[in-house]
Amino acid sequence: MRIPFIAGNWKMNTTVGEAIRLVQAMREELDKVSHVDKVLCPPFVSLAPLKELLKGSSIKLGAQNLYFAEKGAYTGEISPLMLADLCEFVIIGHSERRQYFHETGEVVNKKVLAALKAGLKPILCIGEKLEENEASRTEEVITEQLNSSLAEVKDLAGLVIAYEPVWAIGTGRAATGEQANETIAFIRQNIAKRYGEKRAQEVRILYGGSVTAANAAEFMHQPEIDGALVGGASLKATEFLSIVTQTAVIKYRK
Ligand code: PEP
Repeated sequence: MRIPFIAGNWKMNTTVGEAIRLVQAMREELDKVSHVDKVLCPPFVSLAPLKELLKGSSIKLGAQNLYFAEKGAYTGEISPLMLADLCEFVIIGHSERRQYFHETGEVVNKKVLAALKAGLKPILCIGEKLEENEASRTEEVITEQLNSSLAEVKDLAGLVIAYEPVWAIGTGRAATGEQANETIAFIRQNIAKRYGEKRAQEVRILYGGSVTAANAAEFMHQPEIDGALVGGASLKATEFLSIVTQTAVIKYRK
């Protein structure tokens, strides 16, 4: 059975002090939830203090981005080697990075390869835009994104995929559970073609896009959905905790 996975993408929110207070507000209760991977992805500057704060906790950390080179003259960038010391996961290919920072499939692929080389587990984000969805091009776009992102990736080694329809991110307009389940089943089939059925059954595939405590259950009841990448709602301790708790109850009741 795949261990359910809930990650909070804090995006460019929280100072170090706010990040510490947010973790303090939910750490104890989150730690009580077992058999769910609970991952917090704060801004880079909070990774080191949160690592310290989370010593002995079951809560894991992830970064929101990385650069693909190991070191060198890349002012302002953060390398896989720097992150490998601080966290286990790294979000790669988030639609906001594709849109605002012009990350192409080729760049996403370099980042995935660099992360895996450094022993980091990518949370690879893919998903179609509104106009692509309306033109019934979702499967085509996703296939293209998997082709480019996973080029030369021989072994998924703990990589997690997040299906995030761009039209659902930060809009309050989530996909339905059924829609997300159908697309995630398609992604799993695609992974089976590349890596075989066993790997496809092992890889965790999340839904992301306006997940809240109020709609989380709809997604977690779906068999293909292994968890969620949560943006806005992960900045509220009670909301995030509720999403994690509901996931544990629903996934283990079956
Ligand atoms: C995200 O940032 O990955 C995300 C899904 O955001 P939100 O939950 O706010 O839509």
